[in-house]
Amino acid sequence: MYCSEEDLNKIKGKINIKEYVSNKVKLTKKGDIYTGICPFHNSLVSTFIIDEKSQTYGCYECGCSGDVFDFVVNFYKKTFSDAVSMLALVTGIALDKDVCNKDFYKKQKIITIINKAAKDFYQKMLYQNESALRYVKERKLEENTLQMFSIGYSDPKIHIYDELKKQGFDELDIMASGLVADQKKTNKVFLANDRYDKFYNRIIFPIKNENNIVIGFGGRVMDNKKPKYINSKETIAYDKSANLFGLNIARYSKFDYFLLCEGYMDVISMHQAGFDNAIASLGTSLTLNQIIKLSKYKKKIILTYDSDEPGLNAAKRAIPMLESCMINTSIINLNPYKDPDEFIKEVCKDEFLKRVTIADESYPWLIANIMKSDKTLYEQKIENIATIFEEQFKFM
Ligand SMILES: [Zn+2]
Repeated sequence: MYCSEEDLNKIKGKINIKEYVSNKVKLTKKGDIYTGICPFHNSLVSTFIIDEKSQTYGCYECGCSGDVFDFVVNFYKKTFSDAVSMLALVTGIALDKDVCNKDFYKKQKIITIINKAAKDFYQKMLYQNESALRYVKERKLEENTLQMFSIGYSDPKIHIYDELKKQGFDELDIMASGLVADQKKTNKVFLANDRYDKFYNRIIFPIKNENNIVIGFGGRVMDNKKPKYINSKETIAYDKSANLFGLNIARYSKFDYFLLCEGYMDVISMHQAGFDNAIASLGTSLTLNQIIKLSKYKKKIILTYDSDEPGLNAAKRAIPMLESCMINTSIINLNPYKDPDEFIKEVCKDEFLKRVTIADESYPWLIANIMKSDKTLYEQKIENIATIFEEQFKFM
């Protein structure tokens, strides 16, 4: 045992095994329990059960059983302490490092220390490069905002790899951080030491978890090159599906709802305009893990997705998931502007707040949109609407 009983209970208290497992196994409610296909043996019938009351799982075919820690151990083939570390990160509980000092946790810790060093370095670089500074000014980012979001710049002339080496970090740890890639493996040519900067010549948006720890990075080009954004790969410190950009600040917001949007710039621009409740999922569609995290803080979400086809599709997917987790949703109308960033810049924050206060109820909005926008037959439209309701009940 590498963790105090108290910490284990804290973690358990924050995780509902049914919600956690339902991300991995499709569950159906049967009376007081949930059943599904067992992930631990080959089966075509539902022999796997989750008992929410006792917060345990079991299978009456293969005999596997246990609590959420056992599930992680067996599902991901992890050691017990690795499972504890993983769930600690998911729940945002800081373990006492003196008690929990197993390898996995130590490695995770080192990655976050490297991330912090990289964040500081990138931030410093921003102020030493004229074109990067000009770019953030053109995007109308104020000094206060740059600080609040620790926005930085990856200068192609000064490599993060050299800097991290200089600071004494271990080669393997640097590579595990995902900030640097192996040139030989990628055929990139622009760096010595066989290493190249993943975020080469990009504006850097550090991604922090809800406890303000830097877990990864997003990088944006300053011109029209593709890809416009790149993000850190998942590391042992960075689980994309369990974190949200901006939550470290938004969780403390006085607004009793979150504004959920699509990108870093939307979040940053909304915070700058006084909407410190803006958050975004990290380049993925919304996951149940993220919703569980959000619901700890607020029970109402206003979707501020882009007013285009992908935005509509993202909303179609997010609304039933959120509603089934008892989160009240509505959706803002940004027309004729594309996204919150553009709206606030082209109009103003007061008008944006007005749009927030008259946000549409999500289901009537969804239905109206499907009826209006789908270029399909009437029957197909009805079917699409039915699918959305089925989606909601799937999660209930
Ligand atoms: Zn089984």
